[in-house]
Amino acid sequence: MLTYQHRTAGCGELHAADAGREVILNGWVARRRDHGGLVFIDLRDRGGYVQVVFTPDQAGQAFGLAESLRSEYVAAVAGRVRLRPEGTENPEMDTGEVEVVATSLTILNEAKTPPIYISDKTNVDETVRLRYRYLDLRRPEMQKQLIVRHRAARIIRGYLDRNGFLEIETPMLTRSTPEGARDFLVPSRINPGRFYALPQSPQLFKQLLMVAGMERYYQIVRCFRDEDLRADRQPEFTQIDVELSFSDRDLILGLMEKMVAEVYKEIKGAELALPFPRLSYDEAMRRYGSDKPDIRFGLELMDLTDLLRHSGFKVFARAVENGGAIKAIKIPGCGGYSRRELDELAPLAAACGAGGLAYFLLTREGIKSPVAKFLTEAEIGGLISAAGMAEGDLLLAVADKPAVVAAALGGLRLEYGRRLNLIDEKQDAFLWVLDFPLLEYDEKEGRYVAVHHPFTSPREEDLSMLETEPGRVRANAYDLVQNGVELGGGSIRIHRRDIQERMFKALGFSQEEAEEKFGFLLEAFEYGTPPHGGIAFGLDRMIMLLTGAGSIRDVIAFPKTASATCLMTGAPGNVSPGQLQELHIAVK
Ligand code: ASP
Repeated sequence: MLTYQHRTAGCGELHAADAGREVILNGWVARRRDHGGLVFIDLRDRGGYVQVVFTPDQAGQAFGLAESLRSEYVAAVAGRVRLRPEGTENPEMDTGEVEVVATSLTILNEAKTPPIYISDKTNVDETVRLRYRYLDLRRPEMQKQLIVRHRAARIIRGYLDRNGFLEIETPMLTRSTPEGARDFLVPSRINPGRFYALPQSPQLFKQLLMVAGMERYYQIVRCFRDEDLRADRQPEFTQIDVELSFSDRDLILGLMEKMVAEVYKEIKGAELALPFPRLSYDEAMRRYGSDKPDIRFGLELMDLTDLLRHSGFKVFARAVENGGAIKAIKIPGCGGYSRRELDELAPLAAACGAGGLAYFLLTREGIKSPVAKFLTEAEIGGLISAAGMAEGDLLLAVADKPAVVAAALGGLRLEYGRRLNLIDEKQDAFLWVLDFPLLEYDEKEGRYVAVHHPFTSPREEDLSMLETEPGRVRANAYDLVQNGVELGGGSIRIHRRDIQERMFKALGFSQEEAEEKFGFLLEAFEYGTPPHGGIAFGLDRMIMLLTGAGSIRDVIAFPKTASATCLMTGAPGNVSPGQLQELHIAVK
């Protein structure tokens, strides 16, 4: 029986000051090299690597054993730390000043040749990485990201605890309530034909905790949404979910931005300037064409509607007649654009959602544009001065419904921000976007739907329009945006039954439907509900931005693929006919 050699040091923590120390290391063999009668291995544990050298006279019996080591074997090594001989230091390695001269070796386990080379410089296909996730996670880069995730969660818990928030769990098996996305359903064996839903968020429970007098709640909690996946979406993801009573919007924003700043300070040593800038939704759309603008660069949208509403260019005039707008962005330094580069603008704009695009290039000879011949001298002059154009500036103009114009120019703005290298990747730009619309009309459903969710409070001053002009009501809702990514969102909630009922009505629910689905909430509101509000942040996205990881999959230990499968376990899998029968389910 082999006595287990417990480690006395971590591989990655050995430095010059440790020279002379006797240590026992436990870890994986990252690499073995035989060299001039010596065996070298790099031994790796979670904290890093160190070089171990086996010499026939120091290692004795262990020398022969060392020759049998292969990559990813698990080993315990005892030895003495020494400074590496002069000229053999490795500045690329954290522990590159030292090596451990081994005196004994225990092979704790062998390993097959891994399908992934365990190194940060991997170009292995992601499907292989996901299939062998336990090997992929051995890579130091992946470990670092999960360590940051752990630390961030701890900092957040500490911060919220200090500020009087209680961590309270809410059910995973709950009932399906509409919150925008599709639910994952779980059949009930005991109640044939009935289903639980996995929570899209703990929204109703956290509000009921406010009714329950908990005052300040948080939870780092898994949420489930059965949506088509995009690069930054997963079917299950983690939220930092927060709710508090007796608060207005500014109290919540202030508490939350300090929390984010604490995370950045502790993890990156960065001092974020507080308070974060705040923009209304309307202003964000007007200036950036986006409700999650990347404000690390300019290229802001300008409005040319008044200037060109009567122009001879029919596309412009017609768009304005139909209630649309004409807006543009100005791209500097395009004087040298070739015909081909100009021709490529139209498809680029189409990819951003614009039906058509007009460009105006200011050259030494004047404006170059296929549209120029439809405009008067005065209009062209007006355009140049309104846009403040200088030679070489390219103006990209889109005329359409305001939402289409915003989306198209917002997309072009980002595209040119990247192309022109205007984005300082080292900068972190946070901002709050406020006063979102409460409702938006859904053509497909033929009714208004909540922009945030049905429990969001309308702004007091807009409440009277809820029945008459629902599309104009602004919500007491806010999003936190970082570098053009939505990091989180929340709202002040409705806390009165009558207003919640009016909201359900505005959403087209009959009284019976509202009662059937949300009767318990409406009832609770009758027993002394404090004013309250909250927010939820996407932890995965936050960690992705914090670590600079390429995707949220890289900061989740066991993520799903774009088609919502787990390549390692094979989930979702088949189940036996017996299981289905028990659940009263027949698969078509
Ligand atoms: N439940 C909301 C969401 O998941 C966040 C909130 O309003 O607190 O988006």
